[in-house]
Amino acid sequence: MTRPTAPIELLGHEARLATPAPMPEGFLELLATDCPTVTAVDATADASRDWWPLSMHWALAGQVLQRAAVVASPTTTEQVSAVMRRCNDARVPVTPAGGRSGVVGASVPVFGGVLLDLTSMQGIQSVDATSGLVAVWAGTFGPDLEAELRQQHGLTVGHYPQSFDIATVGGWVACRGAGQYSTRYGKIEQMVAGVEVVMADGSVVMTGGFPAGAQGPDLTQMFLGSEGTLGVITRVLLKAHPLPATEQRAAYAFDTFEAGLEACRRILRRGATPAVLRLYDAPESQRGQGADGTYCVLLVLDEGDAHIVNAAMNVVSEECAGARLLGDELVEKWMHHRNDTSALQALTRKGFVVDTLEIAAPWAALDRVFHDVRTAMLAVPHARSSTCHLSHSYLDGACLYFTFAATPPAEEVEATYVALWDAGSRAVLAAGGNLSHHHGVGLNRSRFIAEALGSSLPVLQAVKDALDPHGILNPGKMGLRSPFGEVQWP
Ligand SMILES: Cc1cc2nc3c(=O)[nH]c(=O)nc-3n(C[C@H](O)[C@H](O)[C@H](O)COP(=O)(O)OP(=O)(O)OC[C@H]3O[C@@H](n4cnc5c(N)ncnc54)[C@H](O)[C@@H]3O)c2cc1C
Repeated sequence: MTRPTAPIELLGHEARLATPAPMPEGFLELLATDCPTVTAVDATADASRDWWPLSMHWALAGQVLQRAAVVASPTTTEQVSAVMRRCNDARVPVTPAGGRSGVVGASVPVFGGVLLDLTSMQGIQSVDATSGLVAVWAGTFGPDLEAELRQQHGLTVGHYPQSFDIATVGGWVACRGAGQYSTRYGKIEQMVAGVEVVMADGSVVMTGGFPAGAQGPDLTQMFLGSEGTLGVITRVLLKAHPLPATEQRAAYAFDTFEAGLEACRRILRRGATPAVLRLYDAPESQRGQGADGTYCVLLVLDEGDAHIVNAAMNVVSEECAGARLLGDELVEKWMHHRNDTSALQALTRKGFVVDTLEIAAPWAALDRVFHDVRTAMLAVPHARSSTCHLSHSYLDGACLYFTFAATPPAEEVEATYVALWDAGSRAVLAAGGNLSHHHGVGLNRSRFIAEALGSSLPVLQAVKDALDPHGILNPGKMGLRSPFGEVQWP
C-alpha cells in the first residue's frame, strides 16, 4: 500500500503553537473502537505536517506547527462515518489528510484533535469502460490509479500533477488540482463526475454521476476545492479517456515573455488545446531549458487522436510563426526532469527561503500580473529571485506560476517568507489575478481570503456553517471562522 512521502527529515516533535484543549476523557479509547488509531508522539508529529516549504525549516529545527492528538486511519466509508459522528458529538477537530503533499499547510491540524488519514482507503472500486467512468477510493495515489487503468482497461484520467507520485485522488479533488496535461484533459474539476462525501455529522452523501444536469446547482463542484472544511471525500467518480493513439512535440524561442503569452492566447482562442503548453520567462528558460538568458522557451506537447493532435499542432505552428523553432529534444528533457524537486530540500538545508505562487488571471491581465508580482517580490529585503512560467491555459486566460527565493539571516526566515507572500499575493490581486490556481488556500493564504473573495466570502461561510455547524472540519483554514479560536500564525 502506498504511503505519504515525508518532505524533509523531522528532527524532533515540539509543537510551535499552544497546546490545544485536552481531548474529552475516554475519547481516544472509544475512537480506537471505530478504526485503527495511533497516538505515539513521533507518528502524530510526522502526520501533522505537509510539504509547506516554511514548515521544512521548522522540521529541521525539530518542530511542527501543531501536533494532532491521534492519527485515525479508517479503511471504509462506514469507519469514516463513525469517526465523524464521534468527533461531532464530542466537538473534537478533525483534519482530513491524503498524501500530505499540500504546499500551503492545509492538512496541518492547527487545533490538534484527530488527523484523519485517508490513505488506507486505496484502489479502484469499479470501471464502466463504455462510459469511461472510474470509481476510486480517495486515498489512492496517482501511479496506482494510472497503472491499473492503463494496463487493465486501456484508459487514462490524464491528471499528472508534478506531485503525481505523492498525492492522492482525494487530495486532488479537495484542492482543485491541475495536472501538467491540463490544457487537453482539463483541471480536476473537469474530470470529476461525482463524489461520495461523509459529512460532519457522519451522514454519507453521493453527488453527481451524470454527464450534465439541471437538477439545481452542481453539488459535486461545491466539494471541489473545499480543502477538508465541508466534508470528507471517501470515493470519487472520475472521467477517463481512451489511451492516446499518438503524440507530437515542439519547442519555440520567443524574444519576450509577452510575445509568447500572445501566441498562447491566440492558440487557445482558436480552439486548439495542446495538452502541454508551457512558456518560461528568460531566467527560467536559462535555468531549466538550456537557453542563454536572452529568450523565452515555449514547450508544446499534444496527445490523443491523430487528426485532433495534427490540427492542434498546426494551429500552434501557425501562431508561433514569428518565433524561432527549437529542437523538440527540449520537451524530452522536460519529460525526464519535470517531477524532480530535490533542489527544494537542498536549498532549504542551506537556509534559503524558496516557494512557488500560482495564480490564474484573464489574458487581458496577464502582462501586468507578470510584471507587478516580480517587482513586488524583488523589493522585499533579502529577495534573490522571482521568476515565472505559464503552465496551464484556457479560452479566457491562464495560470502564471512564480518561483521565488530569498537568503535571509536564520532569525529572519519566517518574517521574510511572510513578507514575500504578502507582496506577491497583494500584487496579484491588485493586478486582476486570483489567489490560487491549484495549490489552494490552506493556512498560508488564509489571511488573503477576504480580499480575494470579497462579497462572496459570506456565501462560503454560510455553506460552512450549514454543513458543519460545530466547525470541527479542518478548523482554522481558508479564512473561515473557527469555534476553536484564531490560529496564532503568522
Ligand atoms: C513537489 C510538489 C509539486 C506539486 N505539484 C502540483 C501540481 O502540479 N498540481 C497540483 O494541483 N498540485 C501540486 N502540488 C500540491 C499538492 O500535491 C496537491 O495540492 C495535491 O492535490 C494534494 O493532495 P494530497 O493527497 O497530498 O492532499 P493533502 O496534502 O493530504 O491535503 C490537502 C488538503 O486536502 C484535504 N484533503 C485531502 N484528502 C481529503 C479527503 N479525502 N477529503 C477531504 N479533504 C481532503 C486536506 O484536509 C487538506 O486541506 C504539488 C506539491 C508538491 C510538494
